[in-house]
Amino acid sequence: MIDSSIKPNAFNERLSACPLCGGGNIRFLFTIEKYTPSFGVDRCGSCGFIFMNPRFNDAAVSGFYDEDYYSGGSEYSYHDERKSLKFFSPVWNKRIAIIRKYVKEGNLLDVGCAFGGFLNAAAHYFVPHGIEISPYAAAHAQSILGNTIHMGTLADHPFPHNYFSVITMIELLEHLPDPAAALRESRKLLRRGGLLVVQTANMDGLQARVFGRNYAYFMPGHLSYFTRQSLTMLLQKIGFGKIRVYYPVEFGLMPKLMKSRSDITRLWDYRKWIRIAAYHYASKIHFGNVAATSSMVVYAIK
Ligand SMILES: [Zn+2]
Repeated sequence: MIDSSIKPNAFNERLSACPLCGGGNIRFLFTIEKYTPSFGVDRCGSCGFIFMNPRFNDAAVSGFYDEDYYSGGSEYSYHDERKSLKFFSPVWNKRIAIIRKYVKEGNLLDVGCAFGGFLNAAAHYFVPHGIEISPYAAAHAQSILGNTIHMGTLADHPFPHNYFSVITMIELLEHLPDPAAALRESRKLLRRGGLLVVQTANMDGLQARVFGRNYAYFMPGHLSYFTRQSLTMLLQKIGFGKIRVYYPVEFGLMPKLMKSRSDITRLWDYRKWIRIAAYHYASKIHFGNVAATSSMVVYAIK
């Protein structure tokens, strides 16, 4: 059992309606007992949204993102990219190249920008701005990118509406207690024709279905779990027009292999490239809303 550093009394009241669609048809899925405190996960019978219930309160959530989390000191922590920039850069650069097929330039906002590595790469083409909840990570991002990094959330940012050409949320949405509010605010912040990029897990993936409660994606920092269907339905409801879903990500295999080299210390470790490649190509298989794996990236145009 893993101590999650969250206190057992850090939970809000149990929700009796879906926080995404308001529907009352909530079904208990399972309890994740790997962590202390353990937490329950429910699924909405109407929209398919999966969520921690009851959820951690705001104080517990903000206290969660301390130095330990960002420097890899905790069991379910952020992958600190600062010492392996050359391995992470191919992923960032490829993503920026694909974003530029939609939008060439303008203001770009990375919500949950952590240390600002992606933003720094994006700065070749876009004017970079960031939002980061963690004072520890935000201070580092500010040291690279200056005062365009807002330490806080989408609920208290200083940016004007219709200001951004691109907003990115890479592995952010699952951390939010109210992802619908964040997506609504993002749409307001985007100019008409602006692009929203969301990377999060697709819980309709066979990977998530087969592993069930043992799926590694269930962890204390993750409060909100989407399916392709629940996310695209929500984006449409909020008013996004053209929506495109990429499996597993919008770029090819090579940048992922490069990124994985940040963990490789011995020649023998390269055997994991077989696993990464198998995962990448398995992810291309999908039937309707059901995909073989649980990775997806959604591009949505305002
Ligand atoms: Zn719902």
